[in-house]
Amino acid sequence: MRFTGKTAVVTGAASGIGKATCLRLASEGATVIAADIDDAGGQELAGTSNGKIIFKHCDVCSDPDIKALMDFAAEKTGGIDILFNNAGAGGAPEPIDRIDAAGWDRTMDLLLRSVAMGIRHAVPHMTGRPGASIINTASVAALSTGMSPTAYAVAKGGVLHLSKLAAADLARHGIRVNAICPGFIKTNIFTASMDLDAEKKAMANGMIAQLADAAQPVARGGRPEDIAGTVAFLASDDAGFITGTHILVDGGLTIGPRHSW
Ligand code: NAD
Repeated sequence: MRFTGKTAVVTGAASGIGKATCLRLASEGATVIAADIDDAGGQELAGTSNGKIIFKHCDVCSDPDIKALMDFAAEKTGGIDILFNNAGAGGAPEPIDRIDAAGWDRTMDLLLRSVAMGIRHAVPHMTGRPGASIINTASVAALSTGMSPTAYAVAKGGVLHLSKLAAADLARHGIRVNAICPGFIKTNIFTASMDLDAEKKAMANGMIAQLADAAQPVARGGRPEDIAGTVAFLASDDAGFITGTHILVDGGLTIGPRHSW
């Protein structure tokens, strides 16, 4: 119960990594403000939590929505101790010679500006709270050119760098800032924007999960709970001297397979 009496704000909370993190932090005593554009998913999550998880609609592409989220969390509970900037989706898929400005901007707004403004609007409610911790979801795509489309990878690279700069800026307020770089995690992100009926989507998710199970040296795909556990560590006092860095949680994806010689 490391987070008893603490408040956590989690974005992208209705599914995948965000949902697993809400459940993990709540299971360790936190009150969790769970934010998403998926109202049905967010309310369903909150409904199963005995009041420990409170859903708040928030589109992280909207600056007023983000400010309203942080103000709501502080009004409800008195302040914010843990912020997990996590909402996301696949960005514009085109290579740099075919991308258009609107797709580029959309990707940056969703994946990078959202994190900057999340931090911006949470900090007034985090300052002076012992152990305050911000965790941002980057990606293996931030560390490698081969993992994702260009705009997504650039945005995630920005999240990584922003995490370090924010850590430097906010150390004077006693707030730690770190990023997590997930590898191939079995969530709905790969099919979220596909126009498929529920049955076909479930089938596609199953096929992607099989790919994930075979993608890295560790003989299973990543689970949302793998990332949730890392968030809990970074949010806890066990990580009290860790700031301005990232943790790669990829089952060895980036080291590649080990061949026997
Ligand atoms: P997911 O699709 O399961 O969950 C993403 C959640 O974000 C959804 O609930 C969705 O409704 C929400 N969301 C999307 N746009 C939003 C917006 N504008 N405002 C608020 N909420 C919004 O996907 P996931 O895999 O859990 O992704 C979470 C984060 O992890 C993302 O930032 C993603 O880029 C990152 N990531 C995922 C993987 C992976 O393999 N799954 C790998 C690296 C990084």
